[in-house]
Amino acid sequence: MAGVSRLQYATEARLIRVMCSGRVDLEFILRAFTNGMDGVFIAGCRLGECNYITHGNYHALKLVLLCKRIMEHIGLNPERLRVEFMSSGEGILFAQVMNDFSKKVKDLGPLGKSDDIDEADVKSKLEEVTTLVPYIKMAKREKLESPLENEAEYEGFFTREEIDELFSEVVSYYIDPEKCQACMICRRRCPVEAITGGKNQIHVIDQAKCIKCGTCFEACPPRFGAVQKIAGEPVPAPIPEEKRTLTRKGKQK
Ligand code: SF4
Ligand code: SF4
Repeated sequence: MAGVSRLQYATEARLIRVMCSGRVDLEFILRAFTNGMDGVFIAGCRLGECNYITHGNYHALKLVLLCKRIMEHIGLNPERLRVEFMSSGEGILFAQVMNDFSKKVKDLGPLGKSDDIDEADVKSKLEEVTTLVPYIKMAKREKLESPLENEAEYEGFFTREEIDELFSEVVSYYIDPEKCQACMICRRRCPVEAITGGKNQIHVIDQAKCIKCGTCFEACPPRFGAVQKIAGEPVPAPIPEEKRTLTRKGKQK
């Protein structure tokens, strides 16, 4: 409506249309910041007036509340992210909110500046958090799916302590080459193809692809117990390719 009515609003804004604000993923927001945006604004339909039974705008709201806490965790000002709900006929409101947000972001300055973080540091922190998005969504799934009744709940829906704790609990998974029996169960069950290995090949986890779902840990037969959970210490480097061939005990000469 703002465009049709030829209303003026901040020219710095880059619009990305989606069918529903519920389509906006946590990863999209973090990637926008990683790619150099100083602020992210999400506009959705009025709460309670979603066209879909999924109430995507509530999902967007919860995601924003979660993302704001994540931003605080990595040292970014959460005011760089904003969500507002309005109808498609409220062009004047849209233009006003866009101008207001644009001014806010300009006052804050380039990402990292008012936050007192070095530019390279911001990028690496954002990239690190982005790789954990599946883990974060899995850990907070229940809350993300639960109803948000009224505005009074927004502030405390996700707390800073809760998010700090979430990140302190992040675990990595590692396959102990001494125990792996190349049964291939974990490789077949991994949802993101982060495990490589073959019939007689010790399996390894690609840490860059792993979304920390824990499926391999659950799937590895207890008699092998080859998958380990690692927290608070570095994950050992994978064994080199040439040393991955499994020599089964009965076949050793
Ligand atoms: S934790 Fe999940 S994603 Fe990571 S390697 Fe295991 S099964 Fe794959
Ligand atoms: S399930 Fe366990 S034993 Fe089987 S390939 Fe995976 S890590 Fe190795």
